[in-house]
Amino acid sequence: MQSVIPYGRQHITEEDLAAVREALLSDYLTQGPKILEFEEKFAEYVGANYAVALSNGTAALHLCAIALGVKPGQKVITTPITFAASANCVRYCGGEVVFGDIDPETYLLDINSVRRLLEESPIGTYHGIIPVDFAGRAVDLEAFQSLAEEFDLWIIEDACHAPGGYFKTSNGEASRCGSGEFADLAIFSFHPVKHIASGEGGMITTNDEGLYQKLLQLRTHGIIKDDERYSNSPEFAAGQEGETIYPAWYMEMQSLGYNYRITDFQAALGLSQLNRADQGIVRRREIAKIYFEAFKGLDFVKGQSGVVEGHAYHLYVLEVENRLGLYNYLREQRIFAQIHYIPCHLMPYYRDLGWQEGDRFNAETYYKHCISLPMYPTLTQEEQEFVITQVIKFFNNEG
Ligand SMILES: *Cc1c(COP(=O)(O)O)cnc(C)c1O
Repeated sequence: MQSVIPYGRQHITEEDLAAVREALLSDYLTQGPKILEFEEKFAEYVGANYAVALSNGTAALHLCAIALGVKPGQKVITTPITFAASANCVRYCGGEVVFGDIDPETYLLDINSVRRLLEESPIGTYHGIIPVDFAGRAVDLEAFQSLAEEFDLWIIEDACHAPGGYFKTSNGEASRCGSGEFADLAIFSFHPVKHIASGEGGMITTNDEGLYQKLLQLRTHGIIKDDERYSNSPEFAAGQEGETIYPAWYMEMQSLGYNYRITDFQAALGLSQLNRADQGIVRRREIAKIYFEAFKGLDFVKGQSGVVEGHAYHLYVLEVENRLGLYNYLREQRIFAQIHYIPCHLMPYYRDLGWQEGDRFNAETYYKHCISLPMYPTLTQEEQEFVITQVIKFFNNEG
């Protein structure tokens, strides 16, 4: 047994090491062929036409908000039960974040709370919605898309928790997280606690070619290198009158972009991890099923993630009566559970913008009871049994 059982952890194999080593010894540490290869494989994995790899998931969200044209004063809706980056990308562009509430059963952004917000304001007040596949459970984007069409909004799916996840559409078909079937853009993170680890890393997927081109440009300073698309003349480019051909050195900065690139050795690691992503999900689903069976019907459990089809189980969440007591007790046993999330609207930054306690009842109630148990593919059966025994022991001793 490991000395500590964390709530999530990466898994690095000999193949991963070999892939990184090969990339490090190649001609390209960055801006090389591994990045495109990672993008193509990832796009295929989620079922989207295009993918853009980036330095992290937060950079991915930032570029999405720019590409969709978020401007000061415009409002965007997201969930309060998410990592702060889902909301912050709107603020980077000067937009206003409006938090909906969560559905207390699924812990996902409640579409009815979103509809109420939209109906309270004149059309045009809101610009977009950022639903999050929280814990790995896929949002019903088909429903969100029809709402978005009604109110002329875009959708960014924050799928950081859910590569490989899916929901069932009204036709009974599986729609994969990040496929772009019902959203304009989707984003992923390859931080070590997520399904696929590259150290730092992120990805945007889309089916919109125009957005794809914009994102490529924004990722590298707003610079393009493409004879067909330059604004300046070949004469200017060459520095020679009468010249009709752009010289090989020429490039143009056409918009204000950033350096949000991923490196080739990170892409090589991501690619290697992607090859066993499905195996990881199978294992995560097994772990979820064992937790569910162990805790169902126990009276200290107020709610749990349960066994849900298409769930990618980034997290396994339990809601319990005495959450603080359980958390502290598990820590003494060297089980490092975690809390996901402190409601984003009650972070001091967002309180300063006017949000206060009582604004989002379901999210705030959930926060008082939620705890994420260890969930990662290399969690052993023995370790999981230890976690389950300790959780039950805590409540038996308490009662
Ligand atoms: C991890 C995460 C992010 C941010 O990704 P980074 O790669 O850490 O920048 C955004 N949203 C959610 C829901 C996340 O879990």
